[in-house]
Amino acid sequence: MSDSKTLIGVGVSPGIAIGRPLVVENRPLPVVRMPLSDAQIEPEVRKLREATARAGQHLAQLAKHASKKVGAEFVSILEAHRLILDDPLFLDEVEKLIRQEAVNAEWALEQVTHRLVAQFEQLGDLYLRERRTDVLDVALELQRALQGRVTPAIDKDADAGILLADDIPPSQAIRLASHGVSGFASETGGQTSHTTIIAKSLGIPAVVGVTGLVREAETAHLVIVDGFEGHVLIDPDPALIQVYSLRAEEHRRRQEELLGLAHLPARTLDGHDIRLLANIDLVHEIAAARSGGAEGIGLFRSEFLFLQASPDLPGEDQQTAAYEELLEAFPQGPVTVRTFDLGGRKLAREVLGNPEANPVLGLRGVRLCLQKPEFFRTQLRALLRAAGSHPGALRIMVPLIGHVEEVKTVRVLLRRYSEELRAEKRPVPETVVLGAMVEVPAAAMNAEHLAAEVDFFAIGTNDLTQYTLAVDRGNEQVANLFRPFHPAVLRLVSRVISVGDRFGIPVSLCGEMAADPLAVPVLVGLGLREFSMHPPALPVVRSLVRNLSLREARRIAQKALAMATAKEVEEYLLEQLSGLLSHLKVRIRL
Ligand code: PEP
Ligand code: MG
Repeated sequence: MSDSKTLIGVGVSPGIAIGRPLVVENRPLPVVRMPLSDAQIEPEVRKLREATARAGQHLAQLAKHASKKVGAEFVSILEAHRLILDDPLFLDEVEKLIRQEAVNAEWALEQVTHRLVAQFEQLGDLYLRERRTDVLDVALELQRALQGRVTPAIDKDADAGILLADDIPPSQAIRLASHGVSGFASETGGQTSHTTIIAKSLGIPAVVGVTGLVREAETAHLVIVDGFEGHVLIDPDPALIQVYSLRAEEHRRRQEELLGLAHLPARTLDGHDIRLLANIDLVHEIAAARSGGAEGIGLFRSEFLFLQASPDLPGEDQQTAAYEELLEAFPQGPVTVRTFDLGGRKLAREVLGNPEANPVLGLRGVRLCLQKPEFFRTQLRALLRAAGSHPGALRIMVPLIGHVEEVKTVRVLLRRYSEELRAEKRPVPETVVLGAMVEVPAAAMNAEHLAAEVDFFAIGTNDLTQYTLAVDRGNEQVANLFRPFHPAVLRLVSRVISVGDRFGIPVSLCGEMAADPLAVPVLVGLGLREFSMHPPALPVVRSLVRNLSLREARRIAQKALAMATAKEVEEYLLEQLSGLLSHLKVRIRL
């Protein structure tokens, strides 16, 4: 009898990995308080120092691997962690507590960590508060070293397997990815967790949110991670292994085939050009954007610079360098940098010490930036400096605009900082291209007035769907109600595109919808000419565009727009497009 089992999670990075499981429990064991006799105190302090040294060596090794394989942005996270380990404020406190209270190192470490984290939470400064995460990461690393728990060694040349863990800290993801681990699955994690970002940018299939994974996989011999469907198969039958091997092979072949078409124009059958741009979260993804044939960057989620900047603030020079790197990669532009979209659910824990009752409706995006003038000033100055040395390519985009005054204020600030920089004899651009993200229904309904103030619109359908349908995009309980094809959302999208046309300003769409094969004809038919998406999606969208005619797309869009429900629209699109999608071997998920 077979013990095969399929566990369900959320697919966050597409692809299929088949291999031996590498099961790791990363969460530390529970810590208990153990009183020490006088004679035990010094050996306990020595134990702490030795564990610290081991943890330090581990981090140094990680940084070495990471710089070769994953890119400099992650090295800075690891270096930040080493700095904390070396910080006397941290370790001296632990030693002091061991001596004062005659307690074990694990317990003392836990107490000091709690205290430090609580202190960080009190800090008014956004950047410093964000460092709590680093302290927690370091404490975890040290706790594991104290408990003698190490990540399994991996033979460099052998098949490294698939990492299955309760929780995968970014440091481990980097190390194991650089040793050839071919898939990730974890009990925790989400669409925007650091490890997910690493998996996506390295093209490693990943599934998160798999309840009971470690327990189920403990004795497994072979597993399959299906990043499309969000499935983890434990010891599947040979027939299933064969099916998945074929699928994996087909996916690989299809990706290669599609990448081979990256140089072809995204032009419809009747000769209309569509501009395909990339959404990137890390500078490291530039290469993928290029190989997918992106014409530029439609969305750089600058808030991810937070990830790379600790322990110091993402300072003006550091930010300027990051923006310049993007501009050097796409000197003709567009390079669209979105100003920090922090708060809400995004890095909210790190940014806002005090939890809000309704964070998604709270201090987020441009609202947060306008309340933190110094923090925003640093970013705007960095953007102006980068634009000054690479004229003509940068677009600045502001998230979560609901009020016309918000963009007006950003314009005033940009003028003020341009003056400042000019006085400092730094080159600044003649004109600044400023756009609004349209992702709040109020902005879509008021688009005419907004259009008079900005140079372009970027429709964020992830949030536009969330706010139009009053459905939290991160809440699994209402996930079935999160429907970008709801006619109300389509009408708002259509409205924004027509207003953009009328006012002669470009409109792009950078929500996940831009990468959805079913949405492509509707959006083209509604008049959208700029699509921005995560780089791996570019080839599929390109091939779809090349197989569509604008005439046909318009017909489909008009019909969809007149429907009453999301379900009707989805079924209609599926019926209209299933022939084309299967001809192009495009997989879709509803
Ligand atoms: C969106 O809301 O559609 C968008 C592109 O931004 P984010 O997903 O970062 O909120
Ligand atoms: Mg958004």
